[in-house]
Amino acid sequence: MFRENLSSTQIPARIGELVTAHGTVRTPAFVAVATRASVKGVEPAVLTELGLEIVIANTYHLHLRPGEDVIASLGGLHGFSGWRGPTMTDSGGFQVFSLGAGKEHGVGKVASIFPGEERVLHRIDGPPLVRLTEHGAWFRSVVDGSEHTFTPESVIAIERKLGADIVLPLDECTSPLHDHAYTKAAMERTHRWARRALEAFLLLADDIALPNPSQELFGIVQGGAFEDLRRESARVIGGMGFDGFAIGGSLGRSKDDMWRVLDWTIPMLPRDKARHLLGIGEIEDIFAAVARGVDTFDCAAPTRMARNGSVFLRGAPRHRIHLRNAAYRLDDRPIDPTCDCPTCARHSRAYLQHLCRSGELAYYRLATLHNVRFLTRLLDDIRAAIAEDRLAALAAEWGTRLFT
Ligand SMILES: [Zn+2]
Repeated sequence: MFRENLSSTQIPARIGELVTAHGTVRTPAFVAVATRASVKGVEPAVLTELGLEIVIANTYHLHLRPGEDVIASLGGLHGFSGWRGPTMTDSGGFQVFSLGAGKEHGVGKVASIFPGEERVLHRIDGPPLVRLTEHGAWFRSVVDGSEHTFTPESVIAIERKLGADIVLPLDECTSPLHDHAYTKAAMERTHRWARRALEAFLLLADDIALPNPSQELFGIVQGGAFEDLRRESARVIGGMGFDGFAIGGSLGRSKDDMWRVLDWTIPMLPRDKARHLLGIGEIEDIFAAVARGVDTFDCAAPTRMARNGSVFLRGAPRHRIHLRNAAYRLDDRPIDPTCDCPTCARHSRAYLQHLCRSGELAYYRLATLHNVRFLTRLLDDIRAAIAEDRLAALAAEWGTRLFT
């Protein structure tokens, strides 16, 4: 359930509360990516101390390993992982399509899917990886090559067993390379799948054997970077009776495209429900999204940056520094003297550089602690700024603008 507590007088930004069976999230909020039921490198108890309130796990990966039956028998994601707070699961549609297509083209995670009646993606000189029909998507596991089928109904059944508080239905992701006709056909199929997912979800609502009877299902708005399609998708998905909404799929080729998609979509959605933006990376994106009325967004940056040797630092280029840089070899300062995280309380940039260069496991954890805390503090500041109607001023202090 979402409660809007206060909205800005001049812009769509708002603060509110997302109330779940496992706690309340103060919004706007950053959702940490916990793909395999773990935020890489950091255990749940510490995440709570860092001010993190919600995580998102991935249905595709957890279905392949360890499997939803294992997780359900251990109390669902909350019991299994020890993270007691609000949790989301992504449907896995993006992974089905992008991992298969990425393998096909040898280019990594690039969604390249064609919404024809049936489109088969082949690995070069290998067996097919993804086959898409009205019924669902057939795919081979990236773990062991085994064969699986995702339908709107089967994904809901998996997510009911995983037991996250907020779950997302199977959708068909398109890439920015697709034209209007392709994107429209994919969007219409996503709408049909959304209806099927909603029915399947409601059928399981009273199953007391499931780990979390208080789940909510969010609808996913698609439509690529096309104004008419985004407005149509927001109208159709917005009218179906979902508990909240995610804005998914291709957001275009540029940041301007992304902001336009939000400008078209958000005003069409019911105001009394939460809006989640799927996947976001830069500090300036966070400001722009929140300004347009996004309540939650998931962000892999803290862990991905740590893996690359980068940590957040306000005022640095892109608000990040690269710890492997020779300039930090004898630098006895913490990453950020104003940061209250356990890493900055105790360790120097020089030591972190040494750990990073040596491949020490502690490096990864320490860098992630700082990066997660950096974002939870930023969102604290953003909520305070919205409450005082000075979000634009805060963005300016961070060297960015809400609207171009
Ligand atoms: Zn820190």
